[in-house]
Amino acid sequence: MSAPHVQTPANGTPALDVARLREDFPVLHQQVNGKPLVYLDNAATAQKPAAVIEAISRYYREDNSNVHRGVHTLSERATAAYEGARETLREFLNAASTKEIIFTRGTTEAINLVAQAWGRANLGPGDEVLITHMEHHSNIVPWQLVCEQTGATLRVAPINARGEVEMDEFERLLGERTKLVAVGHVSNALGTINPVARMIELAHAHDALALVDGAQAMPHMAVDVRALGADFYALSGHKMFGPTGIGVLYGCEALLAAMPPWQGGGDMIKAVSFDGTVYSDLPYKFEAGTPHIAGAIGLAAAVDYLAGVGREAIAAYEADLLAYTEARLGEIEGLRLIGTAENKAAVASFVLDGVHAHDLGTIVDHHGVAIRAGHHCAMPVMEFFGVAATARASLAFYNTREEIDALVAALHEAREIFG
Ligand code: PMP
Repeated sequence: MSAPHVQTPANGTPALDVARLREDFPVLHQQVNGKPLVYLDNAATAQKPAAVIEAISRYYREDNSNVHRGVHTLSERATAAYEGARETLREFLNAASTKEIIFTRGTTEAINLVAQAWGRANLGPGDEVLITHMEHHSNIVPWQLVCEQTGATLRVAPINARGEVEMDEFERLLGERTKLVAVGHVSNALGTINPVARMIELAHAHDALALVDGAQAMPHMAVDVRALGADFYALSGHKMFGPTGIGVLYGCEALLAAMPPWQGGGDMIKAVSFDGTVYSDLPYKFEAGTPHIAGAIGLAAAVDYLAGVGREAIAAYEADLLAYTEARLGEIEGLRLIGTAENKAAVASFVLDGVHAHDLGTIVDHHGVAIRAGHHCAMPVMEFFGVAATARASLAFYNTREEIDALVAALHEAREIFG
């Protein structure tokens, strides 16, 4: 049986009842600058359904307590909810064990954890880490830091004019020295969906490990870490309709078990003395200090919500909306799309002749339309395309064609003002 907001027409492709789904998102129902809000900045952070807001609120109202250490009832309830959230994430990602689900602050912290805990112990002079030219800064700088610290070298696979990784070059850069490949599943600046399964396969063929930055993939598609074969997979709750300040590092159990801890403190130890410390088992070894309990509970609620909507239905709906968006943007004279990969998620980055991206952002905001303007934490991508910044409309399943029409009307006005 399909979920109540999914209608399956005769051709078998599930369609979303978007009007009904929008009712689940309180923030969407407001006016901004006298116009109905059109929220097209989902790649920066997505909006939260009432189910997530309520799960967090309920926790603070009814169960708030610290986890793991308490013997009293509230602490037991908080621990059960927090560990239940871990199981929800395990199932959603199809990880083999909850030992492989480490709660972090987000993707950035998850990547830094691997760079520091795994990288410092396993990299040295002559070793290489391979990334791509389209990475977010959070999948560049942690590797630069650990390369500086260990004497390893960072290699960068080039991209082509459509914003796709040059796979021949990627393969050529892999070699005996490569110890780890770190790639984004979906580019936040371009929308490109990378062939990560193939990239992981190639990494493994060269005895290298593979980390995937999944920040932008999670809101748009089903992710199965075991089917992908990823050694590490990083995600952020707030991009997938959950709270800020919470994310996950998935790591293969054998690898995590062999890694030294990163941060030290409470909860990550079994016993501490001045003669030495015995660390906790997985996953606690990597969760020093009081975790973001409410965040984990909210993220689990977001996962339940996403699973209820259906990730296949979301992907199909968004593919259609992206095609519509790109076609409508194409009608605007002087507009150039940045990122035209064959395989794209719902992100449309663009520049408009004679109008700075920031001015575009400001003008469309006067129409109630929220887009992002800037380098999107991907300065090397901007440099490659020879632009200082782009304007970016990033879509979610609650966006509609009418909203895209509102964006396009606002962009026409920007052209008139500056044209
Ligand atoms: N990677 C990608 C592709 C992203 O889009 C982002 C967020 N813009 C990040 C990593 C970092 O995520 P966070 O700020 O939630 O840690």
